Amino acid sequence: MSKNILILAGDGIGPEIIAAAEQVLQRVNTKFGLELTWQHGLLGGAAIDAHGEPYPAVTASQAANADAILLGAVGGPKWDSIERSIRPERGLLKIRSELNLFANLRPALLYPQLADASSLKPEVVAGLDILIVRELTGGIYFGQPRGIRELENGEKQGYNTDVYSESEIKRIAKVAFELAGLRGSKVCSVDKANVLEVTELWKQTVTAMQQAEYPNIELSHMYVDNAAMQLVRAPKQFDVIVTGNLFGDILSDEAAMLTGSIGMLPSASLDENGKGMYEPCHGSAPDIAGQDVANPLATILSVAMMLRYSFREEAAAKAIEDAVGQVLDQGLRTADIMSEGMQRVGTVAMGAAVVAALGGE
Ligand code: NAD
Repeated sequence: MSKNILILAGDGIGPEIIAAAEQVLQRVNTKFGLELTWQHGLLGGAAIDAHGEPYPAVTASQAANADAILLGAVGGPKWDSIERSIRPERGLLKIRSELNLFANLRPALLYPQLADASSLKPEVVAGLDILIVRELTGGIYFGQPRGIRELENGEKQGYNTDVYSESEIKRIAKVAFELAGLRGSKVCSVDKANVLEVTELWKQTVTAMQQAEYPNIELSHMYVDNAAMQLVRAPKQFDVIVTGNLFGDILSDEAAMLTGSIGMLPSASLDENGKGMYEPCHGSAPDIAGQDVANPLATILSVAMMLRYSFREEAAAKAIEDAVGQVLDQGLRTADIMSEGMQRVGTVAMGAAVVAALGGE
């Protein structure tokens, strides 16, 4: 049965980067006989303009019926002054929580051609390929009780609760082990088990799962402070990193910056059945919208992630990643990754170059 994708271009540079990614999707669909179909919907500011809310019922119903979602980015100054509860970014949080997208996948992959863009030495980062699997719907960001209370002596006290049940740990660990099986077969579970009981349970649960169900995956454990250090000291030691919401938030940004350019980084958020939403890590970049300068490669690489993780079409996913490597080899660069001696191109030309590199019309 053919699979159906919902494309949400969103705001700012969203429509431009999505147009480029859609052409790539079209080409791999034909070339690999994927039989994917897709339709467009509205999210964020574009949905506010059309329906008065950032995640209208019509989009929710499209999203519920789709097998995967490809998103550009949402938000912009036009909607910054409207009431907080109906701002574009609320649409994003709502779609993630309604679809129960609990597993956030953020690869930090550095194309060797861009090794100079990193703030680390090229030899430390060249060939870097890490996948961070972050739990996205639990932990201290959602735990109860939470709030700011007044103590008897009149002093105020803020408090949050870091909480993970075994089932929550198991489902995110399963994602990490399964994905490691598709890559380098190594998982590093990051915790603070020496101090926090919640992560002591995390460590025990992940260990028991590996022993019972994933003996072929090599499991290691690391305290979060050491992991932060190792990521900048010797990042290539990692394959898949799995961790909770708070640690994952920080480590995934750290790992992303190892690659130097926000315009290159895709992401995925998955539910328990592999349905996912795929999007670039960057925002809607209103400062460069409509100028044909945005880098579409993060969105194009998000299409590759969608093919790999929601549709298990590894060959097509790899073909897109290789095509991106080829255009970088050709010296083509958008403004954000431009360096001396390279050829500067716009969004449209970069997208077209990836399509051409895919071949097979
Ligand atoms: P941003 O990521 O949009 O932009 C940060 C900087 O990176 C800007 O200088 C921008 O020009 C540049 N940039 C971003 N993507 C680029 C690309 N593909 N190619 C070249 N340069 C690129 O972050 P921001 O400026 O903090 O936020 C702008 C808007 O995006 C806000 O409304 C924010 O709420 C929204 N936002 C949305 C998402 C999302 O949709 N997932 C994520 C972050 C921010």
